[in-house]
Amino acid sequence: MINEEFKAQRSVKTEMIDSDLVIVGGGMAGVCAAITAARAGIEVTLVQDRPVLGGNASSEVRLWILGATSHMGNNNRWAREGGVIDEILVENTYRNKEGNPLIFDTILLEKVTEEPHITLLLNTSVYEVTKSSKSTIKSVTGFCSQNSTKYILEAPLFCDASGDGIVAFQAGAPFRMGAEDPGEFDEGFAPDVEDYGELLGHSLYFYTKDTGEPVDFVPPSFALDNADELPRMKNYQLQDEGCKLWWVEYGGRMDTVHQSEEIKWELWKVVYGIWNYVKNSGEFPEANTKTLEWVGMIPGKRESRRFEGDYILTQKDVVEQHEHYDAVAFGGWALDLHPADGVYSDQSSCTQWHSKGVYQIPYRSYYSKSIDNLFLAGRIISTSHVAFGSSRVMATCAHGAQAVGMAAALAADLDLRPADIAKQKYITTLQRELNKRGQSIPRVPLKDKNNLVNNAQISTSNALTLEGLPPDGPWQPLRYSTAQLLPLQAGTSYSFTFAAKAEEVTTLEIALRTSIDPYNYTPEKKLETQHIQLKEGEQVVEVHFEQALDQQQYGFICLMKNETVSIRTSKKRVSGLVTAYNKVNKAVSNFGRQEPPEDIGIDAFEFWCPNRRPDGNNLAFTIAPAIRAFSASNLNNGYTRPNKTVNGWVGHWNEEVSRVSMQWDESQTISNITLMFDTDFDHAMESTLRGHPERVMPFCVRSYRILDNNGEVIYEKEDNYQTINIIELEETVTTDELIIEIERPGPDVAPAIFEILCYQID
Ligand SMILES: Cc1cc2nc3c(=O)[nH]c(=O)nc-3n(C[C@H](O)[C@H](O)[C@H](O)COP(=O)(O)OP(=O)(O)OC[C@H]3O[C@@H](n4cnc5c(N)ncnc54)[C@H](O)[C@@H]3O)c2cc1C
Repeated sequence: MINEEFKAQRSVKTEMIDSDLVIVGGGMAGVCAAITAARAGIEVTLVQDRPVLGGNASSEVRLWILGATSHMGNNNRWAREGGVIDEILVENTYRNKEGNPLIFDTILLEKVTEEPHITLLLNTSVYEVTKSSKSTIKSVTGFCSQNSTKYILEAPLFCDASGDGIVAFQAGAPFRMGAEDPGEFDEGFAPDVEDYGELLGHSLYFYTKDTGEPVDFVPPSFALDNADELPRMKNYQLQDEGCKLWWVEYGGRMDTVHQSEEIKWELWKVVYGIWNYVKNSGEFPEANTKTLEWVGMIPGKRESRRFEGDYILTQKDVVEQHEHYDAVAFGGWALDLHPADGVYSDQSSCTQWHSKGVYQIPYRSYYSKSIDNLFLAGRIISTSHVAFGSSRVMATCAHGAQAVGMAAALAADLDLRPADIAKQKYITTLQRELNKRGQSIPRVPLKDKNNLVNNAQISTSNALTLEGLPPDGPWQPLRYSTAQLLPLQAGTSYSFTFAAKAEEVTTLEIALRTSIDPYNYTPEKKLETQHIQLKEGEQVVEVHFEQALDQQQYGFICLMKNETVSIRTSKKRVSGLVTAYNKVNKAVSNFGRQEPPEDIGIDAFEFWCPNRRPDGNNLAFTIAPAIRAFSASNLNNGYTRPNKTVNGWVGHWNEEVSRVSMQWDESQTISNITLMFDTDFDHAMESTLRGHPERVMPFCVRSYRILDNNGEVIYEKEDNYQTINIIELEETVTTDELIIEIERPGPDVAPAIFEILCYQID
């Protein structure tokens, strides 16, 4: 029993924790930075003020994680972010393809607690910063109300991933809040702040459920009583819940840090007001048996402070896809700004303008320019308000945060400050270490002289020579202009055949297009257009394009919309092949073509986007000359996903087991093998609400064995579903040959590997 006498004062229990890196904020940025740093070998303390991880992606807020794939609604092909965020989303799709936010919480908690080098402090709010010099943070202090403990966290390096920048702010780091003048960075999309406001607001969501019996709703007295007058209510549909209610937004004209509670109360008024209208106005009779299942308690915060690094990312970086020597991450969500009045605004709830492809984000945007030991991650990184409109989405935040985690490990190892890593010699190391873990920095190939595969003779039992795809899929009406994307050679004139079925005599327009930038997939360059007469009924259509591409890149064989024509498809799935459709995806302001006002510095172009499975079959076709872009030489070309070409070895769907062999002139001692598979970087993998058709991406190799030169199996895997398999052999192997036997993923799917890395790690 405890029975304490009166004391003049008591102090709460205090614990000191020393680590190499303290990360404040356990949103997707904090989580991915922590896992990356811990796996790179440093001791990390991750502090999160709430009971679970994920920030806006957690079950407390329930946003779906989005990024460069943009719901598969823009021209960024194979653009899902790589590395830890990919591992998490692939795991979530495997365990939780239905998108239950509670399951997603468990995945994040598991991933973090499985890392022995992470100390996780949940329910611990950091509220104080101490400094050892004007520009150096010494410690941060947090308090956990659940165990009534104060934590003093010391480290040589800190990362602020808290969203509002609680550490950077108190440390005195320079920051911006609100919109820049259009002239400052020559940003035509910078808003007119009088009219549009300066900040994006917070939002709260709700979920409903059908009880099967009539349910009454008596609104709380604080509920809005005129929700029917909200401009956006005219578009509301009863099935809208969770992220689809993103427009329930407020607070963009307020102090989004210090007035957060007031903003939340206003949003609760709106949410319960909407539900009162739905239940009691008589306008939604189908809502009679429905009840509220969940209402957000913590508002999702979009925007507050942005801290200044050595580089400020701007609209031009995004739209013009500027290259940076220190690129460590990429973005690809639209520049996406909202009127500050949110749900009360008469203006469109958001304005989104896309780029023609993904853009690089430089390392210099990820640390404070004034606080020597402070990294920035998540939405607070160094961008303008306009560029933030794109970089703020969670997969982009997480991807950049991985670069922070890796940079922190390098800095800790070499006793450097974050800004030192921006020197070319360290950036090269940082890029390499990130790319080894699948970061896929655009236009920056993985070059690693220690990768033993670089000295091997690589051969395979087969490599696809693509003469075409068989007509074993359904007929597909040409309701939308449809393109087959193919990795074409420079200077080659191709002939192409496909099966068409016309309801009447008609003319079909067929075009060969490509992108001006060979790394993009916006088919704005029209090389050749032909008009072909079709007779009524089934027929084989032949087309020969005289024009050739002037460099190796993807060509779009475009069959333009004709509602009287159907095209035969193929069931075969081949890594690096996809069809794209010139159609609308309103969720991301894709109306088939983007037509911005002329003076805002944004390009006009068409959208050609893939269909989600189970649709999105390739077309059935033949092509001559055959495409030979799938060879073993891709296995160490440094690219781990398609860009100008496939970049992977792809076998043949007819061969049940394929073999990849790596032979060396001399025996090698190997302890570590990394295999990078195809988990369809085109698939957006939203983390919640939206379900997915499969748990495992159809292209992904499930089963394989690795053998040495004696035919001994040194490693075996079944039921793989992950992109990257890092194999740490129990015993090192000395051999002059490694053979990988790969089972094809399915009878209609060609096996593929993008990259193989082999190391001797002592
Ligand atoms: C309504 C809304 C809709 C959006 N739509 C999407 C979308 O559909 N998809 C998408 O990808 N992005 C979307 N975004 C943007 C995205 O959610 C944010 O930009 C992103 O979450 C920022 O990531 P972050 O890790 O910086 O911050 P957060 O996700 O906010 O994570 C920061 C974490 O830090 C913690 N923290 C804060 N202060 C402290 C402290 N003092 N001590 C300890 N921990 C602290 C917080 O609890 C939080 O968990 C949306 C944002 C909002 C608000």
